[in-house]
Amino acid sequence: MVETMADMNDARAALRQYFGYDGFRPGQEPLIDAILQGRDALGVMPTGAGKSICYQIPAVLMHGVTIVISPLVSLMADQVAGLEGNGIHAVCVNSTQTPEEQSLALAEARSGRCKVMYVAPERLDTQRFVEFASSLDIALVAIDEAHCVSQWGQDFRPAYLGIGDFLNRLPDRPVVAAFTATATERVRRDIVNLVGLHDPQISVTGFDRTNLYFDVIKAVPTVKRQWIERYVTARPDESGIIYCATRKETESLAADLRAHGVKAVCYHAGMPPEERHAAQRAFVNDEAPVVVATNAFGMGIDKSNVRYVIHHNMPDSIEAYYQEAGRAGRDGLASRCTLLWSDGDIATRRRFIEMENGNERLTDEEAQAVRNRRRVLLDGMIGYCRTTSCLHQYITSYFGETGTVKCSGCSNCDGEFETIDVTDIARAVSRCVHDVNQRLGAGKIVQVLRGSDAQEMHDWRHLDSVPTYGMLRDVPAARVRDVISQMTSDGYLAVAEGKYAVVVFGPRAAETVAPDFTMTIKQVSRPVAENDGGDGATYGGSGNGSGAAGSRRSRGSVPAELDGEDADLFVRLRELRTEIARAAGVPPYIVFGDKTLRDMCVRRPHTDDDFLEVNGVGQKKLDQYGERFLAVIRDFEEGE
Ligand code: ADP
Repeated sequence: MVETMADMNDARAALRQYFGYDGFRPGQEPLIDAILQGRDALGVMPTGAGKSICYQIPAVLMHGVTIVISPLVSLMADQVAGLEGNGIHAVCVNSTQTPEEQSLALAEARSGRCKVMYVAPERLDTQRFVEFASSLDIALVAIDEAHCVSQWGQDFRPAYLGIGDFLNRLPDRPVVAAFTATATERVRRDIVNLVGLHDPQISVTGFDRTNLYFDVIKAVPTVKRQWIERYVTARPDESGIIYCATRKETESLAADLRAHGVKAVCYHAGMPPEERHAAQRAFVNDEAPVVVATNAFGMGIDKSNVRYVIHHNMPDSIEAYYQEAGRAGRDGLASRCTLLWSDGDIATRRRFIEMENGNERLTDEEAQAVRNRRRVLLDGMIGYCRTTSCLHQYITSYFGETGTVKCSGCSNCDGEFETIDVTDIARAVSRCVHDVNQRLGAGKIVQVLRGSDAQEMHDWRHLDSVPTYGMLRDVPAARVRDVISQMTSDGYLAVAEGKYAVVVFGPRAAETVAPDFTMTIKQVSRPVAENDGGDGATYGGSGNGSGAAGSRRSRGSVPAELDGEDADLFVRLRELRTEIARAAGVPPYIVFGDKTLRDMCVRRPHTDDDFLEVNGVGQKKLDQYGERFLAVIRDFEEGE
């Protein structure tokens, strides 16, 4: 490269001019700097941290076109619209286009006018595309969702394995930058090796998302549902995602919510593509505020004003949970992530792992290794449900960050549970398992311990005469069941699956008889069933700065709510945004994000220069929309 290279001053100017942002976020700078100097890069950042800008800024500054490899065909059109909206010429090439559209896009990419081209990884395998790419002046190849290359990640995509090959076949190897939100060491190593990154600049940013309130609630399925209905109906203006474990559940919960007057759509992989697509559109365009979905939904969904993500079931890893929950609050405003879980969820997840045969290409040994790995991931998730310490801390420690974080909001730090000493109960359970020779299921063990008078206690097995019979007469059955369940996940007990599930000793069983053995469980003190889910007094509130129910407690790190007047202006600006988006046929956030509208309400710009000061307003947005938004603000102030 002979032309002078752009530096970080150019990068900051471009950030201001195209995106209207004042500065880079942590982690963005070292990556952009490395790329501009011609060095490969790997960015590991949580969802919403701002990965895209790390390749978009170099794309506008470098000579040639940037190819972005993305698995999300359905999203490419929006990504292109977003860039165009900011004055960056972009195209995408994918199989949903007609052959003419594809040729047009390719011609545009070759013309030299276009800075960014999105393609799906499958296309890289074709000889035609390799020939085409060989004739291009490629500045940078950016790989989005790069963890898809790893079999250890959640979303392995075989076509990602072809990326390394593709790069090798190009006459001049461009700079390569990979991005992912999956932080585990193993996946990171796979990305470097399988894509073939050369001595990359690796930047792993803080995984704490301080605008998210984390909340864990243990509840049986019927209570989960009531909780969700109340929570959602109390916030008609807010956008949210509800994740369920099965397709059937998504359908019935979405129907339930609709019966309660909520415009909820359903999304899962079993729906016909047009329906799925329509559901996604309705959600992204703010026509349906709520989507009830399986984990098939959301990879790469770029909707910045999602105010809550509720999990109706426990996911199978913290990675999966954090990626899904992380779709809340991408605009940086306060949002809430609630995980509802039950012992049944744990049992289901365990069963899935045992049943999984993996893919045929794995040897038995490899399949066993994968299962073991999944068990470890699941244990991390169970730990999150059970921990009594800070949930922000739990997540950042999980992702390998050392040091303590200052909690910016979670149900544990709000002290919404009690820690109960259950050492004696655990000891009794252990003894009982011994008394009955590890031959009974959990339900029977509870009966024995509570001295049940059921007929089967008195039959030929003489369960009524074992030493632990009636030992926990005064302890509620639910408590004993909770303790058995926790002892199972902690390894003191295990469940042997046969014709009946039988409770046996686990690898740590001997510890329960040690003199210093102690065990505690976390008991949620709030009355989950009666709560309306929207009442800050009991729920500690998310400090949700989202404008609905104003009664919620506000938290230090949370942007102040808009007060009455500003809130009225916000509504008017939002109307204008909707109008513009409809006319242009793009999602509202592509015009302006909620955060930008809020900033307008607070700053009340009157001139073009004022307008450029607003967060998220670049030159192109000023040219396109400045006049209309300024007029609304002026009219509003005159009417006041
Ligand atoms: P990711 O791909 O990491 O999930 P995105 O690239 O979609 O995240 O960015 C999330 C949001 O943050 C977007 O709305 C983006 O415009 C915004 N953003 C990114 N970088 C900055 C920055 N330096 N200053 C302000 N906002 C930013």
